[in-house]
Amino acid sequence: MTNDIFDNTILCKKCDIKMNKTNLSKNGFVFRAIVCPKCGDKIIHPADESEYDKFINLENKEFHVKMRLVGNSYAVSIPKEIVSFMQEQEKLMDDMVRLCFEDFGRLSLNFDELKNKGKIK
Ligand SMILES: [Zn+2]
Repeated sequence: MTNDIFDNTILCKKCDIKMNKTNLSKNGFVFRAIVCPKCGDKIIHPADESEYDKFINLENKEFHVKMRLVGNSYAVSIPKEIVSFMQEQEKLMDDMVRLCFEDFGRLSLNFDELKNKGKIK
């Protein structure tokens, strides 16, 4: 990693005192942020903010994928966009996921356990 802007001392605009590093989480996404101990003003790390925008775009996107018969099972492909996003987030480091037949017409793939093992700073 190169120099992180948050490694510098950042002063609160209003209070003129040093802001402290913290982590914020929104929808399971963890942001690096700094917070003013006095007025509670927060600044989210710009890199994490743009990653989050990507995440929101992907989250509501519908993909059409093909099913292929492999032996006795069907295989579906996970779009590269999603996989590379997860890899960037260092959250998908394993080949195993939990598959759940949630409802008729709905299958879910669960990466949560892997995510929790992942490196969240
Ligand atoms: Zn302040």
